[in-house]
Amino acid sequence: MESKLKELKARLLEVYDLEAVSSVLQWDQATYMPAGGTRARAQQIRAVRQLAHDKFTDVAVGRLLDELRTLEQDLPYDSDDASLIRITREDYERAIRVPTDFMGDFHSHVAESYQEWTRARPADDFEAMVPYLERMVEFSRDFADFFPGYESVADPLIDYFADEGYKASEVQAIFADLREQLVPMAEAIADSVEPEDEFLYRHFPKEEQLAFGLEVVKRFGYDLERGRQDLTHHPFTTTFSTGDVRITTRVHENDLRSALFATLHEGGHALYEQGVRTKLEGTPLARGASAGAHESQSRLWENLVGRSRVFWEVFFPALQARFSEQLGAVSLDEFYAAINKVEPSLIRVEADEVTYNLHVMLRFDLEQELLEGRLAAADVADAYNARFEQDLGITPPDNRDGVLQDMHWFGHFLGAGYLGYTLGNIMSAQFFGTALRQRPRISDEMREGVFDALHGWLREEAYGHGRKFKAPELLERATGQPLSIEPYVDYLTEKYTALYNL
Ligand code: ZN
Repeated sequence: MESKLKELKARLLEVYDLEAVSSVLQWDQATYMPAGGTRARAQQIRAVRQLAHDKFTDVAVGRLLDELRTLEQDLPYDSDDASLIRITREDYERAIRVPTDFMGDFHSHVAESYQEWTRARPADDFEAMVPYLERMVEFSRDFADFFPGYESVADPLIDYFADEGYKASEVQAIFADLREQLVPMAEAIADSVEPEDEFLYRHFPKEEQLAFGLEVVKRFGYDLERGRQDLTHHPFTTTFSTGDVRITTRVHENDLRSALFATLHEGGHALYEQGVRTKLEGTPLARGASAGAHESQSRLWENLVGRSRVFWEVFFPALQARFSEQLGAVSLDEFYAAINKVEPSLIRVEADEVTYNLHVMLRFDLEQELLEGRLAAADVADAYNARFEQDLGITPPDNRDGVLQDMHWFGHFLGAGYLGYTLGNIMSAQFFGTALRQRPRISDEMREGVFDALHGWLREEAYGHGRKFKAPELLERATGQPLSIEPYVDYLTEKYTALYNL
């Protein structure tokens, strides 16, 4: 039995290595590659991915997984090897249901659709994207049909691509509850006095911004012996091994928030990936549990820590020292209010903590309607605007900064691309609240700008497990509770009541 397990691991290591190669190619494309490399790079990535897919779906892998059933049953459920066999079998059984040609056609569609989107968005040309979106709806439905017996069309897509273990109906119910809390909160804030934030948009030299952000994530525990930071257009984190987890960011010299919070956000993703136990390396378990679980960590470090008053009590003097001309006359309270300013705005990725989820939830609901045939692709722009006005009180002036702003629906299956953002926010408060309760030292340390106890708790309860447990299970093991909006709503209520005198 041990030799079978060894053979399985050897095969999985090959897949892991090929996937890492593909990640290096993608990282390079998003950071340093000249535009001329685009076409060839797409082929190279596809070739390596195809190889990884073929190796993973080899019948020999299926046979080994069958033969290892008894070993799996003999081992404790939460042992590394039992988890490896269990999770790999689920991955395998899913992967073999999707024909290689289907994914090839899908990727070709995505390449064309994305290309057209890069033209259509600045041209505010929604009409041009309608056929691509129609095709994407078909692809998504066809994909779901490889997994008959689902309750919602989105369920197989969520399982496969994003947040396994959460059903669309369940997520919709949770989101509806959250929306009921957030809409009145955003309205009450809109009626309050706006904080001054002009000083965030002064000129902040790029190198200084980068140095400050990196200094903070190092303090969080991001290990630069096993990571580095580079510039890109859309910040992301990528993992080549537990010894090489890289973050990327972008800088706007006239907006202090952009690089700073993107760096803290990606730093959170990177802490998760660097925290996976090295024993899991080379297996499908050597990454985060799900999109939502990952986002819970990026948002925890970005918002619950990085936008908290206690954090800035320590770090604002350091920021002021770096930018004395720009921020020398600004008080801590003014700065804290400015970085937490709530304002209904058009663009999801720039939204504040309160309104951000409204952007996500309306997209998730529209996706469900599209997938279930209740909404036609041609009517999505109108539906988007109507819902946007209802939830955020403003109407997008055009489709460019409305329904066309994100590439998700033009470059990804529907149903799975958005929910992780809000699931992550909800989970972030659950993880953070539990950590603070279980380890009082965390709060004491944070007042000194030290994060060892928090990072340690998260490593033990979440990061170290990698993908051994699905997100709902991981959350319940760590916090003792299933997914609940309560800690998140409490967090937002407490914070914004104080900030806005609600
Ligand atoms: Zn993220």
